[in-house]
Amino acid sequence: MLVSSYNGIFVVFSLIVAILAAYTALNMVGRVAGSKGRAAILWLIGGSFAMGFGVWSMHFIGMLAFSLPISLGYDVTLTLLSLIIAIFSSAFAMWLVCQENLPGARLWLGGLLMGFGIAAMHYTGMEAMLMTPGIVYIPWLFVLSIAIAAAASWASLWIAFRLRRDSEFNTYARIGASLVMGCAIVGMHYTGMAAAQFPVGSFCGAANSGIDSKWLAVLVIVVSLAVFAIALIVSMLDVRTNLLATSLDRANTELVKLALHDNLTKLPNRLLLNDRLEQAINKSARKKHQFSLLFMDLDGFKAVNDAYGHFTGDRLLMKVAQRILDTKRAEDTVARLGGDEFVMLVDQSEPEDAAALAQRLVEVIAQPYSIDGNSLNLSVSIGIALFPDDGKTAHELMVNADAAMYHAKETGRDAYCFFESTMNVNAHEQMQLQQDLRLALERQEFCLHYQPKMLAPNGVMVGVEALLRWQSAEHGLIQPDVFLPLAERTGLIIPIGNWVINEACRQLRFWHDAGYGNWSMAVNLSTVQLAHASLVDVVRSALERYAVDAKYLILEVTESTAMRDAEASLDVLNRLSALGVSISIDDFGTGYSSLLYLKRLPANELKIDRGFIMALAQDNDDAAIVSAIIALGQTLDMKIVAEGVETSDQKDLLTRLGCNTLQGFHLGRPQPADMLLGSLGHQVLAPC
Ligand code: C2E
Ligand code: CA
Ligand code: CA
Repeated sequence: MLVSSYNGIFVVFSLIVAILAAYTALNMVGRVAGSKGRAAILWLIGGSFAMGFGVWSMHFIGMLAFSLPISLGYDVTLTLLSLIIAIFSSAFAMWLVCQENLPGARLWLGGLLMGFGIAAMHYTGMEAMLMTPGIVYIPWLFVLSIAIAAAASWASLWIAFRLRRDSEFNTYARIGASLVMGCAIVGMHYTGMAAAQFPVGSFCGAANSGIDSKWLAVLVIVVSLAVFAIALIVSMLDVRTNLLATSLDRANTELVKLALHDNLTKLPNRLLLNDRLEQAINKSARKKHQFSLLFMDLDGFKAVNDAYGHFTGDRLLMKVAQRILDTKRAEDTVARLGGDEFVMLVDQSEPEDAAALAQRLVEVIAQPYSIDGNSLNLSVSIGIALFPDDGKTAHELMVNADAAMYHAKETGRDAYCFFESTMNVNAHEQMQLQQDLRLALERQEFCLHYQPKMLAPNGVMVGVEALLRWQSAEHGLIQPDVFLPLAERTGLIIPIGNWVINEACRQLRFWHDAGYGNWSMAVNLSTVQLAHASLVDVVRSALERYAVDAKYLILEVTESTAMRDAEASLDVLNRLSALGVSISIDDFGTGYSSLLYLKRLPANELKIDRGFIMALAQDNDDAAIVSAIIALGQTLDMKIVAEGVETSDQKDLLTRLGCNTLQGFHLGRPQPADMLLGSLGHQVLAPC
């Protein structure tokens, strides 16, 4: 046998080429798996070429590393045939690992076929030397080389299948796998070479006619490196594009999520709710099922938000949302419409189920909340609309559930209420009114009417009370009883109230300048205003703006307003009082003031509620109450004002009972500023 030898550098090169080929192939597999349609096919073709060419050039460099004492060459046709075999085996392998799944049997078969492919390439390449006599193979090494090829293919397929998806972890795994695969391919080659025996006297038929091996060596190495480099660069660029696409995709999903969910609570928003509602309507109409819509509006949330700030308000909303979520079943939808409004869509429910659920919600939400050491209390009003009885469209159901919720609110809050058809008209009007109220300020539709206040015995006018009127373009003149509850519920009372304070101060400045320098101005404050953080600043800046001495401004709060959240009210009233303004307790006698609390209030005035004056007559109960209030006021050093004085009898009696100041239709109706002066007789005017 001829003694063969190996060129060490070429052997190392062949190993490097094998590893690079494996790495490129794995990368390409990742590309195929990560793309679709034409792109995937192009990657598959490109990958097969790179891999096939890689395996083949490894083999060829391995052949070039090999030398015999005779000169060698390679037949072009057979060499090309071996290249084609390599490319086809690679294509087959790549196609296999890019399938959705790779069951065991297919993996075995694939490994075997690809192993045979590589072996076929190798031995065809050997045949390209056209040796005479033929190469003698040592059988067991020959079989072993094919076994190694099959085993290496099997392992490569398995690894490639596992690693076909991109991930950061995969980069290292891929490098490791490429080392294993490269070594296996090289192992197969050199085992095959070891199996080959060349009888003494052999000569190579391709030595002269075939390709010159030196040039071939350089060419193969350069071309294979170039192929890998190009393949890798392209595939890395593609990874970048893919990453970009993935992050765009992610951003898109996030955007869609944002568009359909409420930012704060992460609950579905109105848009998504509408969609679910449509689905529920379609499904329930088909299957003749009922479902219910629970419209929830928190009671007292605005006051908490105003008193503790938005941060606490937000956290409170999140806690409420969690409690609602804990109460729902998996198939129900809870959405937040914004503000303190939530909606629950209760799939497949009978009225009794809806009632039980609503009752549970009312109870659960009323449990105290602990936020930053504060214990906060809330309640909820719930309106229930049933499909299909209370509405056949999403819009109808929402409007009716909302109307039922308003009804629950009006009948005492902290409760639920089923929709009834009579609520609808009312709700519609309310909604219209609410919309118009929002625009009323900018349309300058508000004005103040002023009702005079007179000193008791002599009827000298000492000031006025400012009473708000809404001259609406759509609805005509509207009294405060009608629109104020709405303004309070929607928070609009804050900007409206601020306007009242400023306008009253402006008017007072005008009267003071006109010679009525000792008139006072009484302005009413609602509960919501009193709880709002900015009140003191608003009052202070209005006084400054119109250069009004604070002692001429009287702020009226009703007894029940002052009594609600007594400590917080006390604080605000004290700060107002520190500005120098007077505090008057309005509608006195209707609430449940404790004497102790009354004593702590920085109030200067008690206004006896109209209810006592109305039925006032000598020696009746009301007279006793009024004289008790007067006595109380005197003890606490407060002025006493009687409001709602409609007759001269009432005036006389109140005067006799010791009331300082009187107010009522008998003495003067509320009227616009310009009419007030004209309507007053000279005897009651006391200009300075
Ligand atoms: P109030 O503070 O008790 O105001 C007195 C109400 O009694 C006024 O009703 C007035 O027109 C009416 N009134 C005065 N004298 C008589 C009388 O002799 N007989 C009868 N029957 N009624 C009399 P108005 O203007 O409709 O105001 C109702 C309530 O609306 C007020 O009750 C007050 O609580 C509230 N309000 C009015 N303006 C404002 C405002 O600018 N801000 C706030 N927060 N509340 C206001
Ligand atoms: Ca008042
Ligand atoms: Ca009053």
